[in-house]
Amino acid sequence: MPSSSAPSAVEAFEVFANPAPLPLAQREAALADLNFGTQFTDHMARVQWRSGTGWLDRRVEAYGPLSLDPAAAVLHYGQEIFEGLKAYRWADGSVWVFRPEANAARFNKSAQRLALPQLNVDDFIGSIEALVRTDLEWVPDADESSLYLRPFMFASEAFLGVRPANQVDYLLIASPVGPYFTGGVKPVSIWVAQGYHRAGPGGTGDAKCGGNYAASLLPQMQAAENGCQQVLFLDAKEDRYLDELGGMNVFVVRRDGTVETPRLTGTILEGITRSSVITQLEDSGRKVLEKDITLDEVRSGIESGDVVEVFACGTAAVVTPVGRLASPDFDVTINGGVAGDVTMAIRAALTDIQYGRAADTYGWMRRVA
Ligand code: PLP
Repeated sequence: MPSSSAPSAVEAFEVFANPAPLPLAQREAALADLNFGTQFTDHMARVQWRSGTGWLDRRVEAYGPLSLDPAAAVLHYGQEIFEGLKAYRWADGSVWVFRPEANAARFNKSAQRLALPQLNVDDFIGSIEALVRTDLEWVPDADESSLYLRPFMFASEAFLGVRPANQVDYLLIASPVGPYFTGGVKPVSIWVAQGYHRAGPGGTGDAKCGGNYAASLLPQMQAAENGCQQVLFLDAKEDRYLDELGGMNVFVVRRDGTVETPRLTGTILEGITRSSVITQLEDSGRKVLEKDITLDEVRSGIESGDVVEVFACGTAAVVTPVGRLASPDFDVTINGGVAGDVTMAIRAALTDIQYGRAADTYGWMRRVA
């Protein structure tokens, strides 16, 4: 199967080299001490949009602060969307991105919901190729490390009226990241949000917009106060069904081997990891159900042994075992607090494709350098 071959407008991006890139020794030090999202590469990609003119001025330029009018609409009404995906360095030195056209499609779906302009897939992918090629030395090669890519688009027009902006900026920044779990994969604890919902019917739950994450911070703080690393949101309408975590989709494994995940109702984000996991599980012969799942059935299933594993998934942590589910009313341990076999097998199957250790029979990987 050929690798992903969506069109790219990489040649349209003019590169203005950073006159003062980070000195080699400092870059090497940064790559030897990777954290999530704290260190950025020497460049960023950028395209501007003006109503009537469309997208113009595709460029890669020095990474640095933006000059933004204090009246820029994004600062007042949050008209903003983003994406997250990774570039992986394979053992032979080549660099590959995982399903970028899926992120491009989701970006445009988010743009539509936030009344932002559509960005062509070839510009989205072209910006990734242009930036990764310019900052190629920033793609780490340590085990389970990658270059995290953050495309985003926001209303930059200086205007305080509440209407879609006539001036919008698209940017792409990149950050080298290490393994999400240092010292091996460890199950996380999850707190069920009480009194807070992430998204409601007709809202922005299936869009990747900054406001969704701002609203998740307070319940996330409560999770941390209760010794949990992640927060699980229930549906806003009935407050009984699993939606998703603050930044990951959730899966449940039954004793009979069936895997279940909340169906796409419009209130959860359609994760690209989620869809990849479903495909791989089904292709391995497993039954996967996308359905309504109540918190009660998960809790009682964990207690009775009918639910044997719970895992979360997303670009940042790939596939994460959940070892504990807690709320003010209950506190249950899953699979003795140990990562389950199904969870670890699907994690390995996916990362093997991402790092080029297994054949990419799906055409998910796109070579960028
Ligand atoms: N759900 C939310 C709310 C997220 O922010 C993310 C991360 O992007 C996901 C799910 C997982 O999506 P993906 O697998 O595309 O990273």
